Amino acid sequence: MVTYFNEIYRGLLSLFEGMGVTFKEFIKPTVTVSYPYETLPMCDKFRGHIELIENEDGKPNCIVCMMCQRACPSDCIKITGKKPEGEKKKVLTKYTLDFTRCSLCGSCVESCNFNALEFSKEYNLASTRKEDFYYDLLQRLEDRNK
Ligand code: SF4
Ligand code: SF4
Repeated sequence: MVTYFNEIYRGLLSLFEGMGVTFKEFIKPTVTVSYPYETLPMCDKFRGHIELIENEDGKPNCIVCMMCQRACPSDCIKITGKKPEGEKKKVLTKYTLDFTRCSLCGSCVESCNFNALEFSKEYNLASTRKEDFYYDLLQRLEDRNK
């Protein structure tokens, strides 16, 4: 009989301890978000795919020196540029990134001496289509400025 009541007592004690923990967590501030409806800003050091940096006029800082393309160990970057008539400097006409091959090593960003490349904060990139990871960075920059 004593064992019977002892077990009921221990069961109730355990129940109230559990409810105490639940109640304490219930009144604490929420630390989760309703992903994918809500997202958190990524930390400064987060590396998403690379993105072109623009100047005050909304044009890319890139001067088509090709250093990033050469520095990429995975051959992800393809750049084309042209020299408009009467101009001394080349203008970027296409900057494509094959993100399926990118290891996020950072060699491209490090090799750029013109502050023209940075890592994006993009992380919502799930897709079943490989083609969704081929990026036209110049087009993306233009779309950002629309
Ligand atoms: S290294 Fe910089 S400036 Fe040179 S092509 Fe790449 S992004 Fe453009
Ligand atoms: S982060 Fe590395 S692998 Fe990715 S594009 Fe740049 S150089 Fe290539």
